[in-house]
Amino acid sequence: MDPAVWKDSINYSAIVLAIGVISAYPLYRIWRTRQEDRLNFSIYTAMDDLDVLGRRSSPNRMMGTAVIVGGSITGLLAARVCADHFERVVILEADEGADTEFPAAAESKRDAHGNLNYVSRRARVAQTFEIHLYQPFALLALRRLIPDFDESFIDAGGRIEPWSFNAYWSGVKIGVPKSRYIKGRGLPKHHNIPKEDLPDTIWCTRANLEPFLRREIMDSYPGIEFMKATVTSLTQGDSGAINGVVYTPKGQKSTKTMTPSFVVDCTGHSKAGVKWLEHLGIGPVPQVSYDPLQRYVTVWFKLDEEKFLNLPIPKEVRGLDCCFYAFEDSSLGGRLLWASNGENGTFGLSFGGFGIPSEELPKTPEELKDFYREFKTFSGKPMDDWYYDLVDYLSQDGGWERAHYEECKIPPCVYVKYHEVASTLPRNFVALGDAVMRLSPIYGLGVTKGVLGAVTLAGALDKVHGRTIPENFARDMMISLDKRTGWSWDQAKISDYGYETTIPCEGESLDEGAPMRAAIKEFLQLTTVDEEAKARFYYPRLWIYPNSTMLSERVFGMIAARIAAKNK
Ligand SMILES: Cc1cc2nc3c(=O)[nH]c(=O)nc-3n(C[C@H](O)[C@H](O)[C@H](O)COP(=O)(O)OP(=O)(O)OC[C@H]3O[C@@H](n4cnc5c(N)ncnc54)[C@H](O)[C@@H]3O)c2cc1C
Repeated sequence: MDPAVWKDSINYSAIVLAIGVISAYPLYRIWRTRQEDRLNFSIYTAMDDLDVLGRRSSPNRMMGTAVIVGGSITGLLAARVCADHFERVVILEADEGADTEFPAAAESKRDAHGNLNYVSRRARVAQTFEIHLYQPFALLALRRLIPDFDESFIDAGGRIEPWSFNAYWSGVKIGVPKSRYIKGRGLPKHHNIPKEDLPDTIWCTRANLEPFLRREIMDSYPGIEFMKATVTSLTQGDSGAINGVVYTPKGQKSTKTMTPSFVVDCTGHSKAGVKWLEHLGIGPVPQVSYDPLQRYVTVWFKLDEEKFLNLPIPKEVRGLDCCFYAFEDSSLGGRLLWASNGENGTFGLSFGGFGIPSEELPKTPEELKDFYREFKTFSGKPMDDWYYDLVDYLSQDGGWERAHYEECKIPPCVYVKYHEVASTLPRNFVALGDAVMRLSPIYGLGVTKGVLGAVTLAGALDKVHGRTIPENFARDMMISLDKRTGWSWDQAKISDYGYETTIPCEGESLDEGAPMRAAIKEFLQLTTVDEEAKARFYYPRLWIYPNSTMLSERVFGMIAARIAAKNK
C-alpha cells in the first residue's frame, strides 16, 4: 500500500476510535454509576432483601427450631421471617404485660385518666404509648410480611401517610423536598423505591403497633409458638454452635432447656445475648455507650370528635400526624417539643430535651407556655404563636388535670459491636434490634432499625440452600448489619455530642466528631435554600437509599465552601 494512503487510513481509524471512545464514555459512566448504585443498595441497604420476604428460594426448610428470644417488635418480625425458613419457630418472651388487643378497648383497660387506648405497661419497654416515628422502609417490609397489611392496619386504627413533618430547628423550618428529581437528575434508582415523591409510612403509637403485629403474625402464621418464659443462658455444643436455650417458664421456678437450630436475640434494652455469650467464654463483646441525658414528658389528651376537629392548628399542617416538631440547636439550648396525633381521639404534647432535670420540666400549662416562650431561635425572633392557643385549648375546662402526664428518662445509648468479634460468634446465634443498638429516640430510628434487621436476616437465610446454618452465617450477618445500620449510630452520636450535658463514651470527649457536626449544620442550613440539598437530606433518612446518597459533588462543594467562608 502507498505509505501516504496507509498513513491516512491510520489517521482515519484513530479519529473513528477517538470519536467512539468519547461518545461511549458517558454511557460507560452511566453503566459504572449504575453498578456502584446497585452495589451500594445491596451492601448498605436492605432494599434487595425486600424481594425475598415471604418466601424461601430453596425447596426445603432448615431443620429444627428457630428460637427467638424477646417477642416485642423485632422479635415478632424475626419470627415471621424464620417461619419461611425453619421447620419450627418458638418465641420466648418474658414480659407478662405484652397485650394482644389493638386498640385495647376493654373497659378494664381504662387508665386512671379515663382513657381507653392505653394498654398494660411493659416492664422492660419504656413509654410504650408514646407516638413513634417509623420510616417508609418499615412499611415496605410490613406489606410483604403481613397479609393485607394496609387494610388490617387501617382497620385497627393505624394511619398510612407520607413521611412529612412540620419541623423547626431553632426557628428555621426544615422543609420536605418537592421531588427526588433534581434539575432533571434523579437519585439512584431501585425497583423497590416507592414512586411517590413523599413516600408513605405508618403512623401509630408503639403501644398499639406491637399488639397489632403480634395479633396479625400469630393469626396468620399459626406455626409460630409463643411462650411466656425468661431465657437465662445458652449452652454450646462441641461444634461451637448453640445447642441449648435455658429458660424459666412463667410462674415456674425450675429451668428447662430447648434445643435450637438457630437463636435470635431480640431482647432489646437488656441485650441479654452479651451475658449469655460471655458466660460461654465468647467475647468480651465490645460495647460503647454514652448518655445524652434526655428526659421528656408526654401529656395525652382524650378528645371528643368535635373537640378534635376544632384543634387550633394551622390549616397547612393540620393533616400531619406530627403537626409540630421543634428543637433547639445545640449552640443555643437543649429543648425539644412536639405535638402529635395518637389513636382513638387522643392528642399528645411532648416536651423536654437534653440535660433538663425533672424539676425543670413543665408541670402546668403555664409552665409549658413559658418553656416554649424561652425556645431560642437563630434569628432571635419568637416561635409561632399558635402553640400557645393549642396548649390553652387542650387545657381548658380541666383538660390538663384529666390528661395523662408521663415523664420518661431516656436510657443511655448503646452499641454492642458484635461485628468486631464476628468470627468468634457461634454460627447459629445472631442479635437484632435494640439488643444490638439503642439510639436516642428523638431521631425515631429504633423500630425501623429492628425491621431492617429482620429483613437482613431474611436475605441471609434465603441464601442458605442446605438444611443447617452454615459456618460463617453469624459472622457475615452481623458484619452486614453493621454496614447497614452503623451510620445511624455515628450520626445520632455526633449530633448528641453537640449538647454539653451529654456524657460521652468512655475514652471520648464531646469534641469527637466536631467537624462533622459543623458540616451537618451547614447541610441543614443549605436545605432551606437549595432543593437538591433538601432532597439529599430527606431521602436517605427513610432507610430506602444508601446513606452515601446524602452527598453529591455539588452539595459537598457547597458545604465545604460555606465552612471555608466561615473559617476565613
Ligand atoms: C421514649 C421512647 C421513645 C421512642 N421513640 C421512638 C420512635 O419514635 N421511633 C422509633 O423507631 N423508635 C423509638 N424508640 C425506640 C423503640 O421503642 C425501640 O427501638 C424498639 O422498641 C425496639 O424494639 P425491640 O423489639 O428491638 O426491643 P424491645 O422493644 O426492647 O423488646 C425486647 C423484648 O425482649 C424481652 N426480653 C428481654 N429479656 C428477655 C429474656 N431474657 N427472655 C425473654 N424475653 C426477654 C422484653 O420483655 C421485650 O419484650 C423510642 C424509645 C423510647 C424509650
